[in-house]
Order: sequence, then structure tokens, then C-alpha cells
Amino acid sequence: MSTNPSGGEWDEASLVPISALQHFAYCPRQCALIHVEQVFDENLYTLRGRAVHRLVDEPESRLERGVRVERALPLFSPRLGLVGKADVVEFLSDGTPYPVEYKHGRRRPSDHDDLQLAAQALCLEEMTGKPVPAGAIFHHSSRRRREVTITPALRGRVEQATDEVRRMLQAKKLPRPPADERCRHCSLLDACQPYLVAGTGTLHVQLGDLFEVEDEG
Ligand code: SF4
Repeated sequence: MSTNPSGGEWDEASLVPISALQHFAYCPRQCALIHVEQVFDENLYTLRGRAVHRLVDEPESRLERGVRVERALPLFSPRLGLVGKADVVEFLSDGTPYPVEYKHGRRRPSDHDDLQLAAQALCLEEMTGKPVPAGAIFHHSSRRRREVTITPALRGRVEQATDEVRRMLQAKKLPRPPADERCRHCSLLDACQPYLVAGTGTLHVQLGDLFEVEDEG
């Protein structure tokens, strides 16, 4: 069992899934719907994402061009109480881990993807005792990597988000919906009903959007 900073053990309910940090950074209500209410629904983007992750879902360890590559590697941070799984971790010749997170779509910056990668880096540092200065997001559509430096600011955001998510999961309360641009791409739109809950009166705008072809890009 993992231990918390005061030396005690994290109980099961206090452990935070790394995926929850990414959901939380995108929309706190989405995080609560998935991790508190256990709501999950598919849309085009989740189906694409699952197809990409099937490529790296099976645990595997192999040498590729002299680099040890681990797929579906379990991760944990006893200090932060984080648990999860890395799509791919490459181990450089000096043993430094280099996490690579697979995403569908084209190469583009994404704060919530960077946060997820940084959380993986912090776990790997604790697990291996090696600094993890960088990792990468692999964008499947463009087959390109975007390197992410694990900066002190990003590390701080992981710690802060982990605390906030833990508090939210334990409180078991649904945050109010932002009811903004994010909802157009969200697989939980039907379950969430953001425009009704927020009372923004923008439902007619969203119904109009049903007839637009949107490239998530
Ligand atoms: S529909 Fe909007 S408010 Fe609801 S979970 Fe998705 S992004 Fe958040």
C-alpha cells in the first residue's frame, strides 16, 4: 500500500487516478461525472482515442533500436497518492525514463495532456529514483511527437490538481457546468445537460451546432 506524506497509508478512496487529472483539467464536472457518478459515453473522439490506445494497451517490454520500451506500465506515486498507467515508457541508455502518451488527432498543444504526462513523470521519478526532465505526446493522426518539458510550474500544477481532485472525489459533489466551447466536443453532453443545468439559455445555439461538421483538430 502507498504511503502519504505524513507516513500513513493512502486508503483506497484517497488514491487519485492520473486520468482524473486530465479530465479535471478539461472540465471539473466531466471529472466528477466519470470518477464519482461512473458515467461514460462514447462519441467520435472517445472512439478514436480508444482505437489509438488499443495499440499500447497490452503490457510489453522490448528493445527497439537499443532502447528498452515498456508498454502499459503501471504507475504510482506514494508521495502524491497517484495511480495510473503509462502508454509507453522508453528507458534511455542511462536508465532515465521518457514517458510517451498516445493521443488521437493532429499535433497540437494541450494543457490537460501536458498535465497527464507530467503526473506520469512524477510517478516514474519516485518509482525509479531518476529525474524525468521531459516526455512526449504522440499524435496518432499526424504521427508526430510533441516534446513536453516537465517544468517546475507543471509539477506544481500536478500537485495542486491532485489535491483538488482528491477533495472533489471525496466530497462526491458535481461542480456546476461551464457550458462553454468545451461541451461541443464532450462525450458526456447528453448525461451532463450543461445548458439546462447552467440555465444559460443557449440551448438553441447548441441545437443549431448539431448541423455543423466540426473538426476537433
Ligand atoms: S458537457 Fe460541458 S460541462 Fe458537461 S462535462 Fe462535458 S465539458 Fe463539462
